[in-house]
Amino acid sequence: MASDVAVELAEDAAERFLRYVRFDTQSDEDSTSYPSTAKQLDLLRVLADELQELGVADAAIDEHGYVTGMLPATVEHEVPTIAFFAHVDTAREVTGANVRPQRVRYDGGEIPLGESGQVIRPSESPHLADHVGNELIVTDGTTLLGADDKAGVAEIMAATAYLVAHPEVPHGPIRVAFNPDEEVGRGVIHFPVESFGAVAAYTLDGSTAGEIQEETFSGASVRMKIHGRAIHPGWAKNELVNAIKVATRIVERLPQVRLSPETTEGREGYVHPTQISGDSSEVELRFIVRDFDNDLLDEHMELLRTLANEVATEEPRCTIDVESRVQYRNMRETLEQHPQIVANLAEAVRRVGLEPKVTAIRGGTDGSVLTEMGLPTPNIFTGGHDAHSEREWICVEDMGLAAATILELAKVWAERGRV
Ligand SMILES: [Zn+2]
Repeated sequence: MASDVAVELAEDAAERFLRYVRFDTQSDEDSTSYPSTAKQLDLLRVLADELQELGVADAAIDEHGYVTGMLPATVEHEVPTIAFFAHVDTAREVTGANVRPQRVRYDGGEIPLGESGQVIRPSESPHLADHVGNELIVTDGTTLLGADDKAGVAEIMAATAYLVAHPEVPHGPIRVAFNPDEEVGRGVIHFPVESFGAVAAYTLDGSTAGEIQEETFSGASVRMKIHGRAIHPGWAKNELVNAIKVATRIVERLPQVRLSPETTEGREGYVHPTQISGDSSEVELRFIVRDFDNDLLDEHMELLRTLANEVATEEPRCTIDVESRVQYRNMRETLEQHPQIVANLAEAVRRVGLEPKVTAIRGGTDGSVLTEMGLPTPNIFTGGHDAHSEREWICVEDMGLAAATILELAKVWAERGRV
């Protein structure tokens, strides 16, 4: 049962969320600017203003679009500074323009999404069955919803508003941060971790209520530039090397029944071709590589290099340049050195009436990168489901529980003091 506070927070978070999703904040992997798209700044500026209106005196937006603010401690004794992060951008798979959110009461069965023909089905969205009788927010079937991660933004805002209005809640210094570009893997690369001054942070960027994540994939990207041999096709006999055909040879040799996202789950890693572009003379092939284990990550990157070498050896008139880059590393090792960060979170989740469930994310978060940068950052649920699709949905009650978890976590840190 949700407490009165969680119910109050749920309504505030839902109201904010319904406003935030109307901003189109899709990020763009191919952009060279930061943030990757200027439209993300439209929402980020509004968030900075809202923090200021709440009375967060130092709320500001910096030249990278990072919005930060600080809530001073309400207790006398020394408590470490903790922080909460959420990202404003949405994923590339589905448009985030003209989102028309619908708040519906769920009475079971399928949820048809407007006139779109899209349907949320309990068989495809297994958590739906747990939400009969709840209020849900869904799309009209033509866009994504953007609960990933505007739900996190709304929940942090609701918790912040509550703390400002209730100075009797005991807590240490709390920082909040909203950032662009998580979905393109650059969410916090310029973030001023040092001057931010937090010893622990939490991203609100998870899914099912009660879940906490202290483990993410380690991730790498690999790009292959395939240079064929161009010539007019009329005179091409024994001369032309078609880069598109070379690229497909590489793709055909990728593992099919293992090491693919479509055939793996749990703790299994994968290599995944994400993009192919170019023409008969030159093709670029992009991959992402994921594993929970850093050595296996290196092995998978090596596998791609080996495939490229094999094909290049068979066709010596083409050249294949392979570039790889580790994007982030599994945060578990670092978090194990600071067990209180996750222990306090688990206690907070219990205090809102949920059983904490520690899971590993088959993906990365801004927390993976922050952890690498020296700010250990596990992930908290938001209540959102089926992200990056038109069938994305979120439970309003769970939004309240996520925001209430922030409050409880602030209190637990104030009780327990130093790391
Ligand atoms: Zn996210």
